[in-house]
Amino acid sequence: MERAALSVGFVMLHTSPLDVPGTKDAGGMNVVVRAQADALALAGHRVVIFTRRADGAAPAVVELASGVTVVHLDAGPARVISKGEHEEVIEDFGRALAAALERDPVDLLHAEHWFSGIAALGTARAAGIPLVQSYHSIAAAPDTPLTEGERPESPGRLAGELLLAHEADLVISVSEAERRTVLERFDADPARVRVVPLGVDTELFHPCEGRECEERRDWLDRGGRPEVLVVGRLHPLKGFDLAIDAVAAIPAEDRPALRIVGAPPPDGDDYVRGLHEAVLQHGMISTTSFDGALRRSELAERIRRAAVVLVPSHSETFGLVALEAAASGVPVIARNTGGLREAVVDGVTGELVTGDEPADWARAITRLLDDTARAERMGAEARRHALSRSWDASAERLLEVYREFLATR
Ligand code: UDP
Repeated sequence: MERAALSVGFVMLHTSPLDVPGTKDAGGMNVVVRAQADALALAGHRVVIFTRRADGAAPAVVELASGVTVVHLDAGPARVISKGEHEEVIEDFGRALAAALERDPVDLLHAEHWFSGIAALGTARAAGIPLVQSYHSIAAAPDTPLTEGERPESPGRLAGELLLAHEADLVISVSEAERRTVLERFDADPARVRVVPLGVDTELFHPCEGRECEERRDWLDRGGRPEVLVVGRLHPLKGFDLAIDAVAAIPAEDRPALRIVGAPPPDGDDYVRGLHEAVLQHGMISTTSFDGALRRSELAERIRRAAVVLVPSHSETFGLVALEAAASGVPVIARNTGGLREAVVDGVTGELVTGDEPADWARAITRLLDDTARAERMGAEARRHALSRSWDASAERLLEVYREFLATR
């Protein structure tokens, strides 16, 4: 029996699917929403993405792809604001969302990040629309020491995340690690917390081919430095400072080049200044580059040129970059934490490192750079691992979870 197509409303208050990932506050969530929306629309469903108008000139509705529209809602100033300022516009956004849904209802609302969940909760209740919540990232436990440069979590976030674990009709986690956090920290009902693993575009992110590989080999044969790459929003939580210290801990004559990809969030200039200072102090200016945020295809090209991708994030519910590197056939050295433990198969597709000691990270990097046969084996295993993780499979699982849940109502 053919099942009816669904109308799904993704709620994405603080960042737009039109933003370039790696700029402003756009990152993994933007990649995920875009990929899942496209895959749902391809499967015949309708997706509306509600986001805050951060640009006065943005049209009210933008068609992103066939079956996927973006609706800009007026809440707060029509300009980019820092992440923290979004708490003040949650109520206005909720009201604008309610009005938009009256004009064009959906079968379910899927809130991305806690701001969106809190904004959508009242509306969903009043309109009798089920609310599905994805956190994307969860605040560190209140007793966790702050990473240098990091601001304390707002009490609003801690309370908001806890409330949603109990009040949303369903919580979707991106990894088993995130599900455990939701269950243990928030004491949520296990029946209402489901895992939908994320995917990767294995056509966009692929290993080097033909001339590209030859050029890379020639470069290394001529004594060029291999490249270590770190990618993400330039936020203290991502551990870019550790990446710099780790490369600095490798003796200068063997030191790889370090490429840093991404741009700071709206309130992130101090952290980036510190990163530039660290590069200067370590005498690594000529071997380090800050490449800014890159569009997806350029990023894919940059990843497959790297000898190794580092993911030193202090916490990561999933870690898309690790999977993108794997799809590119590049081994990953990641922190032994959260979803990274699922994204990297330790000793097979890369290595997991525990702690903040630059020397430990440096050793993991040199072990890979010194043993190209091992690095190639890991790259091939990584690609194999990534091939089993398509966005279509992720969206299919998401749909299955939506359907199972709607059937119980
Ligand atoms: N990204 C990008 N261009 C950049 C920097 C990052 O496309 O210049 C993408 C990156 O490839 C990944 C996402 O942004 O898909 C970041 O996701 P991740 O899960 O690593 O971190 P998050 O932003 O969710 O904390």
